[in-house]
Amino acid sequence: MALALCGLAGLLVGFTGFGSAFERFADEARWRARQHPASGQLHIVEIDARSIAAIAHWPWPRSNYAVLIDRLREAGAASVTFDVDFSSHSVPEQDAAFAGALERAGGRVILPTFGQESGGGEAGWTDSLPIPELRDHAMLAAVSILPDPDGTIRRAPLGTMTAGTPRPSLSAMIAGANGAADQDFPIDYAIDPNTIPRHSFIDIRDGRFDPKAIAGKDIVIGATAIEMGDRYAAPNYGVIPGVVIQAMAAETLRRGVPVEAGWQLPLLLGLLLSWIILAARSRLLLGAAAAWSPVLVFGATTLADSLWNTHFPVVPALAPIGAAFLSATAMRMLRAARRRSLHDARSGLPNRLALREALRSGQGMGIVAARFADFDRLAASLDAEGTSEMVRRVRDRIATVTEGSLVHRIENRVLAWCSLDETQIEAQLATIRTLMLSPIEVGGRRVDVTLAFGVAAGERREHAEKTIARAALAADHALAEGRSWHYHDATDDDALERELSLLGELDEAVGKGEIQVYYQPKLDLGTDRIGGVEALVRWNHPTRGFLCPDLFIPLAERSDRIASLTLHVVGQTIADLLVWRAAGHEIAGAVNLSAKLLSASDFIAALRDLIDASGIAPQLLTFEVTESAAMTDPASAAAALQSFRDLGIAISMDDYGTGQSTLSYIKQLPLSELKIDRSFVQFAHQSRSDGALVRSTIDLAHELGLKVVAEGVEDIECLAFLRAIHCDMVQGYLISRPVPAPDLAALLGQSFAEAA
Ligand code: C2E
Ligand code: CA
Ligand code: CA
Repeated sequence: MALALCGLAGLLVGFTGFGSAFERFADEARWRARQHPASGQLHIVEIDARSIAAIAHWPWPRSNYAVLIDRLREAGAASVTFDVDFSSHSVPEQDAAFAGALERAGGRVILPTFGQESGGGEAGWTDSLPIPELRDHAMLAAVSILPDPDGTIRRAPLGTMTAGTPRPSLSAMIAGANGAADQDFPIDYAIDPNTIPRHSFIDIRDGRFDPKAIAGKDIVIGATAIEMGDRYAAPNYGVIPGVVIQAMAAETLRRGVPVEAGWQLPLLLGLLLSWIILAARSRLLLGAAAAWSPVLVFGATTLADSLWNTHFPVVPALAPIGAAFLSATAMRMLRAARRRSLHDARSGLPNRLALREALRSGQGMGIVAARFADFDRLAASLDAEGTSEMVRRVRDRIATVTEGSLVHRIENRVLAWCSLDETQIEAQLATIRTLMLSPIEVGGRRVDVTLAFGVAAGERREHAEKTIARAALAADHALAEGRSWHYHDATDDDALERELSLLGELDEAVGKGEIQVYYQPKLDLGTDRIGGVEALVRWNHPTRGFLCPDLFIPLAERSDRIASLTLHVVGQTIADLLVWRAAGHEIAGAVNLSAKLLSASDFIAALRDLIDASGIAPQLLTFEVTESAAMTDPASAAAALQSFRDLGIAISMDDYGTGQSTLSYIKQLPLSELKIDRSFVQFAHQSRSDGALVRSTIDLAHELGLKVVAEGVEDIECLAFLRAIHCDMVQGYLISRPVPAPDLAALLGQSFAEAA
C-alpha cells in the first residue's frame, strides 16, 4: 500500500514542473561527477580577440579564410567546418578567392546554413545559405541550435527540415552521425570544454603551428571573441561561445547518438529502494537506506551514462524514495506516539489504555486493582523520580505472583493487571500482602507501602473500561472500609453509575449555578462576635437535592476538576465578603484547599488573578489544609504553602490531631492557625484525655504564635470549657450550622456573650 503510494508520488512528481527542474539539477550533478576531457579529435580554430586585432577590419576579407583552408588542407586536416555566416556577398575577388580554396579542398569543407524566421508574411523557417559561389564547392550543414525557454542550451539537433529539405546539423555532419531530420539529442556536458584543443585563427593563417597536430583532425572554425557576441548559456559552464557548444555537440555524437531511456526502469529501481526503506526495522537502517538510496540512483544512472551512453531520468526513482522516507519517518513517529500513549510517562509502566487493549485482545477476563494507601503522603515525602521508583518497586513485587500478566499503572495511585485464573486471586493477594510487609527501599530510604485491592470479574470484552473502573472502585471501597480487598458486586455498580453520571453533570453544574457556597461562622471568643466564616461547598443537584461535599469533592479531585471548583468557591467567598464589608462587617473567610492543589502552579496563577481582579485584601482569606495533606516532607509542603503566604493568604491546619504531625514539624510550616478536629472537641469537656489534649494543644499553639479554632462545638458546656482554656475561636452547630450567605448576614451584628 505504502509502496503503491510511493510509486504514485514518483509518477506525479515526474509529470510536474518541479520534476523537470529537479531533473536538470540532477543532470548537472551527474555531468560534474562524470566530467572528462574531450577526445582531442576535434580542434577549434578561434576567431579570437588577437586575430581580430591582427586583421583589423571586420568582416574580414575572405581571402583570409582561403589561406586558412589551404593551410589546414596542407597539414592534412580530416574535415574543416565553418561556424561563420557566409550568406551575403563581399568584394567579388575576395569571394572568388574563398571559392577557389573551397574547390582546392575538394568539397570537403562544411559551410553553415542558418535557420531564421521567414518573414515577409510567410510562416515557418527558411535557411539562409552561403552564397552560390561558395556552396557549389562545399557541403552544407545546419548550424542553428535552439535554447530551452530559460535561455540555456541543453540539446542539439541531428538535422533540420527546412521547406521540405532535410539537412544534417553541423555536429552530426562532423561526427558522421545519422538520424532523422527533426530528432535532437542531449549535449554531453560532462565533456570539459576547456580540454578541446584550440588554435588562434591568425596563427594558422600565418603558418605558426605544428602541422602534425592538425593532421587527421576535424577542425571547427568560429568566433570566441567576446565582441563577436556569439555566446550562449550552457549548464555548469556559464556563457560560452556558440562554436564551443557546436564542438561539444559533435564530441557527444562521436560516441553515437545518446539513448534517452524512459521512466520505467528508474521507477522500478525507486520502488525497490522504497521497499527497502519501508522495511527498515531500526532507525539506523532507515537512515542508512534513505541516505544511500539517492546515492545509488545517482551512481547507477551516471554509470549508465558513461558505460552505455544511455541517459536515465532520476526523478521517477527519487520521488518514490523521498515518499518512502517521509512515510517511513511518519510511521515511526506514529508508532512512537502510540508507544507513548500506552505508557505512563513517569514510571514507564503500561497505562490504563494499554490494559484496556490487553483486556480487549483477550488476555484474561477479570481485573485486579491495587490502590496505594496514603499515596499523597508517600509521594510528598519522595520527589517525582522517587515516587516513580517506588511505583516500579511495588510493580516488581506484584509481578512475581501475577503469572506473566503485565502490571499496569491505571491511575497515579492504582496499579492493575488481568487475572488469568480467578480461582487463584485470593491466594495471589495474600502473597502480595505478605510481600508488602517488608518496606521498600527508594533512594536509600525505607518506605512502608500499604495496598488495598479490588477485584472485578470481566464479562464482555467490549466492556473492558467498565471492568477496569469497577476494579479500581472496588479497591477504593476496600481502602475506605479498612479491608484488605473488596470484590466488586452489583450494588457497587449503582455507585459507579452514580459517580460516572455525577462526573458528567459536575462539568456543567458550575455554569448552571448549582454549585453554591454555604458559610459556617467562627465565633471569636475575645469579642463574642463572629470573626470569620468557613466556606463549605454544596451542590444543589436538580434531581438529587443538596449533595454534601464528601460525595463529590473526592470525585472532583480524582478527575482533575478540583482546581476550577475551588476557584469558584474562592470567587464566591470573595464576592460575599465584599458584600458584608459594604454592610460594615469586615470578617475573614476560609476556604478548604485540597491536597492536590498544594503545588499546582496554574491554580496559584489563576488565584492571583482572581484576587487582583476583585481588589480584596488577601489577608481576609485563609486556606484550610488538612493535617494529612500537609503531613508531607516538610520542605516541599512548606514551600507550597509559602507560595500562598506570599500572596497574603493565611494558612490554617485543619483536622488537627487526626494525623501524626509532631510539634517540630508544625513549626516548619508557615501557619497562622490551628483547627482542632471535632472528634477531640466534642467531648473535651467530658473526657479527661480529650480535654487534656485540647488544652495542651492550645498552649502549644499559643507558644508558636498560632490562633486556635475548635471545631464541632455542639453544646454550651463544651463552649464554656473552651473559653476557660483560652481557645481563640469556636465553630460548630451550637453557634450555627453552615447557612446560605443571606442567613449568615443576619448573624453578623449579633453578640454571642450570653451563649456562655
Ligand atoms: P471540614 O473542613 O472539616 O468542614 C467541617 C465539616 O464539619 C462541615 O461538613 C460542617 O458542616 C461540619 N460541622 C460543622 N460544625 C459541626 C458540628 O458542630 N457538629 C458536626 N457533627 N459537624 C459539624 P461539610 O460541610 O459536609 O464538609 C465536609 C468536608 O468537605 C469539609 O470538612 C471539607 O474538608 C470538605 N469541603 C467542604 N467544602 C470544600 C471546598 O470548597 N473545597 C474542598 N477541597 N473541600 C471542601
Ligand atoms: Ca475545613
Ligand atoms: Ca475540619
